[in-house]
Amino acid sequence: MNEKRFQCKKCDYLKCIAINKQMYYCNHEGRSDDMGKLGENAIPEVSPQWCPLRGKHHVW
Ligand code: SF4
Repeated sequence: MNEKRFQCKKCDYLKCIAINKQMYYCNHEGRSDDMGKLGENAIPEVSPQWCPLRGKHHVW
């Protein structure tokens, strides 16, 4: 079975910090990436490999 993939743009943990540009971060405390950076001026189509929701039984 395929690994579940999540869409950050629909996720409550998505956080945007806009200073000079829009920086998108994952605000989930379980993220395994140090910074949780998702993108600059863009939200990824699918969640990154370190997404803490991957493998959870949750479908959009
Ligand atoms: S990485 Fe996962 S938990 Fe974080 S914003 Fe994206 S979908 Fe949500």
